[in-house]
Amino acid sequence: MRNGLAVFLSLIILAVSPLAWADAGEVRVGVLAFQGSERAAREWEATMAHLGRMLPDQRFMAVPLDFASIEQALAARTIDFLITNPGSYVALEARHAVSRIATLESGPAEAPTAAVGSTVIAKAGRTDMRGLADLKGRIVAAASPDAFGGFQIIWRELDDLGIAPLPEFRDLRYSGFPMERIAWMVRDGAADAGILRACLLEQLIAQGSVAPHEFKVVGEVSGDGLPCRHSSRLYPDWPFAKLAHTPHDLAKRVAAALLAMPIIDGVAWTAPLDYTPVHDLFRQLKIGPYAQLANPSLRELARRHWHWLAVAALLACWWLVHVAHVERLVRRRTADLKAANTELSRQMLERERAEELSNRHRAERDQFSRLGILGEMASNMAHELNQPLAACINYAKGMRRMLDTGQADPALLAEGVNAVADQAERAAAIIQRIRGFVRRRPPQRGAVDINEVVRETVEMFQSLTGRKSLAIHLHLMAEAPRVIADKVEVQQVLLNLLQNAMDAMAAEEGGITVRVSASDGVVKVAVRDAGPGLSAEADAHLFEPFFTTKPEGLGLGLSICRTIVESHGGRLWAAPNDGRGLTMRFTLPIDHTGTQ
Ligand code: ADP
Repeated sequence: MRNGLAVFLSLIILAVSPLAWADAGEVRVGVLAFQGSERAAREWEATMAHLGRMLPDQRFMAVPLDFASIEQALAARTIDFLITNPGSYVALEARHAVSRIATLESGPAEAPTAAVGSTVIAKAGRTDMRGLADLKGRIVAAASPDAFGGFQIIWRELDDLGIAPLPEFRDLRYSGFPMERIAWMVRDGAADAGILRACLLEQLIAQGSVAPHEFKVVGEVSGDGLPCRHSSRLYPDWPFAKLAHTPHDLAKRVAAALLAMPIIDGVAWTAPLDYTPVHDLFRQLKIGPYAQLANPSLRELARRHWHWLAVAALLACWWLVHVAHVERLVRRRTADLKAANTELSRQMLERERAEELSNRHRAERDQFSRLGILGEMASNMAHELNQPLAACINYAKGMRRMLDTGQADPALLAEGVNAVADQAERAAAIIQRIRGFVRRRPPQRGAVDINEVVRETVEMFQSLTGRKSLAIHLHLMAEAPRVIADKVEVQQVLLNLLQNAMDAMAAEEGGITVRVSASDGVVKVAVRDAGPGLSAEADAHLFEPFFTTKPEGLGLGLSICRTIVESHGGRLWAAPNDGRGLTMRFTLPIDHTGTQ
């Protein structure tokens, strides 16, 4: 029925274009010779003869080729048509734009859609070779890596089982063509198993090359319409394909002739079938037209792993943002630091200036204070100076009288002159002392004997004040420790305290006690009076500048004293006595660095 329709179709085509292929010539049909060239030529003899009959102006010739020579023939355009296995066809379809015009309908298969498969054979006695999984760790023989029925079909079955032939076989040995060599390798023990195209085993048995029970079939599959023993799923039968350069008309006429061909020697042709199952195989194994899946292009990789790329891109973006952020922070902090540094330098400069100013002010204040003390003592100073000056005058007058009376005894005159000189020196010494005290000078620190300073200062005070009724009791240490201090500044403090004590005792009886002691690493000087002590107001503001309760007072004395004592690392404070009066104390740190 199907053949009847094909004949009818071909007749119509021939009638429509009888002169379409007018040029007489040779039409070369390449045929894949998996069992040797001779066998191939013989196998397609009937088809060639039929085509010759149908297209009498053409001479059809079968050209047996192996895989490599098919490629060459296509490149050199030495063939016009090609009959090859489904795997080879699908690969060439992609690479050389060959296209099928008919599919073989041959052999024992029930349908041409399920006609090609593979058979895995092992020696009949091998009980350890039951399923395809048993090929693991074995030596397996196959026709070639490009052989469809002779390798690739079984490769896919193994792939389904999670077995990769190359690493998991002990060895994979290629026999090349003819494919029957595989059977001989298994028979000779060169391989544990061999992959044949389905139905080849039956052909070998039929032609007597193989004994009926010589081989067993490993992983046998049945019930799919192919009566030959096989180990795989089935694929469409071989296609008859035209090449890219084959004239369209010739292809049409050949197609019609093929469809019209009756079954001759078990060979017939039907309408071209769908080879999607073969594509599926190639796609799964990533070979042939799908080889780029195994070695994907950058774009393909990107398409496949876009989510990872997106994550990487996001990370890169985050990193860039982070780096930019850190850089900005660093720049900002650097700017902040620079600003802080400038501000600090400015503040330091300001502080230095302020310190300088304060030092100058302090020096001025000190001098001012000393002048103040001097002012308070001025009348007494006059009195003090008066004595030597009066003595000088008296001696001078006495000597003049002697001279006037003409009784100038040279010895007496000499005594008088000496006395005048002594008294003048005394006056000069007083002035010298005052000048030394008042003179504006920078601080001069050095090792100071505190006993000495206190004694000298008290003497100066007494000589300056000349208040003989005021007793000053001095309690010095037997051996005073050394302090590093400015002698004049210490004198100034002590004079101030003595003056305040004296002022407090203006109308009071009793005396002042000055005591030098040492404890806890400091020398302590206490000035104790028997005055009225401090009022609540004086107690609260004692050390504040310009606080005074005296009509003539400046109120600077104690604030300057405290500054001086603290600049020496000591302390100045007031404490009321148990009985009457107040005691002012100041300390100076003992110098432990040198000998005393
Ligand atoms: P001034 O002596 O010029 O008043 P000071 O700073 O030396 O300035 O003293 C401030 C004030 O402290 C004095 O006016 C006085 O009221 C009080 N004061 C100081 N020493 C004593 C003392 N020993 N007894 C009572 N009051 C004192």
